[in-house]
Amino acid sequence: MNKGSGGLCGLKIWVYVLGCRSNLYESEALAGELEARGALVAGRPEGCRAAVIVSCSVTATADKKCRQAVRRARRVLGDDGVVAVCGCWAQQLDVDEAGELGVDILVGNRLKSGLPDMLASALSRRPDVPMDARLDLRTGQTWDSLSLIRPVLRSRAFLKVQEGCDHFCSYCVIPFLRGRSTSRPPDEALDEVRRMVGEGCGEIVLTGIHLGMYGRDRGTSLADLIRKISATPGLLRLRLGSLEPFALDDDLLDALAESPVFCPHLHLPLQSGDDGILARMRRGHTADDYARVCESARTRLGDDLHISGDVLVAFPGEDEGAFRNTLDLMRRVGMGRVHVFPFSPRRGTEAAAFSDRVPPPAAYGRVEAAMELGGELLQRYASRFTGRTLSVLYGYTPHFVAFAAAPGERDIEEGRETEIRITDCVKGELRGCLL
Ligand code: SF4
Repeated sequence: MNKGSGGLCGLKIWVYVLGCRSNLYESEALAGELEARGALVAGRPEGCRAAVIVSCSVTATADKKCRQAVRRARRVLGDDGVVAVCGCWAQQLDVDEAGELGVDILVGNRLKSGLPDMLASALSRRPDVPMDARLDLRTGQTWDSLSLIRPVLRSRAFLKVQEGCDHFCSYCVIPFLRGRSTSRPPDEALDEVRRMVGEGCGEIVLTGIHLGMYGRDRGTSLADLIRKISATPGLLRLRLGSLEPFALDDDLLDALAESPVFCPHLHLPLQSGDDGILARMRRGHTADDYARVCESARTRLGDDLHISGDVLVAFPGEDEGAFRNTLDLMRRVGMGRVHVFPFSPRRGTEAAAFSDRVPPPAAYGRVEAAMELGGELLQRYASRFTGRTLSVLYGYTPHFVAFAAAPGERDIEEGRETEIRITDCVKGELRGCLL
């Protein structure tokens, strides 16, 4: 994608990202392309000529943070600076509002690879109205040819292999902002893994919007891709990003069990433990289905498998009984790390029209209760490793449990896989000493 400097050479550019791992990947790929064109990628706007904001719109809070980032960029860069916004929030933003906020470039999903050229053009002459590159994602599905040489902003390498979603859970705006499920050509993904491993990345995290749908549009599968990637010489660890529970079939479990590099951690969004609420969410599974998936995963991948998940509390119609069912299911499946989100109505989704909302005080109470239980469950899960020897890379064990050197102990060299004797577990974080 590198077409020479194109006018970006020596310019300092702030790259700021919000949201999911797919966004992290896209921000890395954009930062890599800007660097390849001679730009200096910065972690803050001070002293920069331009800003690239990789945006998120999964909740109202995410929208607010995007607005704040744009205002900060405009304020710090001044009138000569160029502000570009791409991704989910940009996909749905009104172009007039974008102009009022001081946005110069609006790039929707599946078109981010074109952003560096637009930036170069806007830097040569700042546009009077926002440059607007957005697709109608209800039709036509292309793969945006972003690629990564090596991580620029972080040490761990995320690899995006799938885009969009066809599931339409009633609360989720993502299918409207990211379009239909589309898979990256497997050979392209494999080439990128080899490149990143060649650049010293020991760990690859496969990610997508609905990762489990990988390959369905190309006559292949996530299981096949994992088998191929797992054979990459020099790869130490392979992780999976969030995986919808209904995508975890026997073939995928077999591929994970056969893989010599798969890290035994699965992030399986739960959302609710109540069948009535799950049905209103259009999750397509029951609480028992979820428990069965966890059980078969442990049977196939071992008892130490770390199952983490997302929980969405205070969904319209959720009464105390339904909420207790969620807490019960979290305990029943022996969850580890839990991310808790309060319901956030998203314009255009079915659930946004549901009138039986949970009052804010009750909603916040449930967030706290679920987070408190999550903390207990993570401590209960992680403390099983006390007394064992585990390897740590980028601050995490293979089971994705955080590690911190015990006070007075030598710390671990970043990016170097290190054997550790685990001596303690505090609030779900392991302590120990280097062997
Ligand atoms: S599976 Fe549901 S929650 Fe996940 S991206 Fe698709 S619609 Fe959203």
